[in-house]
Amino acid sequence: MTGGRVSHSLRPCNHSITEAGGDGNTRSDDCGAPAAGTHPTAGVGRTPRPALAALARLVRSARSVVALTGAGISVPSGIPDFRSPGTGLWEKVDPMELAHIDAFRRDPERFWGFYGQRFATLDGKQPNDAHRALVAMEQRGLLDAVITQNVDMLHRKAGTRELVEVHGSIASCSCLRCGASVALAEARALLDADPQGIPRCRACGDPIKPDVVLFGEMLPVHALARAQRLCESADVLLCIGSSLEVHPVAGLPLLTREAGGAIAIITQGPTPLDAIADVRLGGDVAAEMQGLAEAAGALDV
Ligand SMILES: [Zn+2]
Repeated sequence: MTGGRVSHSLRPCNHSITEAGGDGNTRSDDCGAPAAGTHPTAGVGRTPRPALAALARLVRSARSVVALTGAGISVPSGIPDFRSPGTGLWEKVDPMELAHIDAFRRDPERFWGFYGQRFATLDGKQPNDAHRALVAMEQRGLLDAVITQNVDMLHRKAGTRELVEVHGSIASCSCLRCGASVALAEARALLDADPQGIPRCRACGDPIKPDVVLFGEMLPVHALARAQRLCESADVLLCIGSSLEVHPVAGLPLLTREAGGAIAIITQGPTPLDAIADVRLGGDVAAEMQGLAEAAGALDV
């Protein structure tokens, strides 16, 4: 991260640029965004839509670009957003009740009956084009870091180097009594081997807990502090696939805004911060991110 700041003049205009996405119907664009066909970073064979081109220009001009990702970026990988109605596992239970630290402490057998299924659901999933676009941007020096609310390890699998997992990760489990830690594969083996289906600490026998932030738990202090520093110093914050409704993460874009940076929201569906976004893209997240990486020159060979 360069930590540098640039002026508001980076922004395309004083008005946000919004597109529904995909159909090319720009609803609000009298903002100096390049006309179709004239942008120098238009990529090979395709001309980016005005809002996409404007965002690519912001990214290329910025000294610090940071991404903040949520459940929506993993939907194309086959991981449903549990806030969406009618989506599998979470539909049958109340996650606020079952994936709660109190439920883990009170009834680890029931907790692991549920979380074991979640492990099985997440473990085999692979990154999609949106994850890969962020890796390409990082490798080209166009992205400083990814902050994610997701615990699914897909940014890791894709190859993101600077990654802040503010809600933890399923990559490991820990014993709350003695602090012993085991990797996901061993946790799953312990779970399968236990007669009650409770993975237990080899050292002390207590049930181990996935290293994810359960409901009722605080976010890891160091990860949150790092995320806040990144957002404060970002010239451009790309909010990708997040409904921006879960605090304290939902407050991170405001840190960027208050420090004079630009906010781009690349998410299907409304967010509480749409009104203050500099650029809003609402198409398929994988297609939008591939388009951005291409328009920004991250995919050039
Ligand atoms: Zn232990």
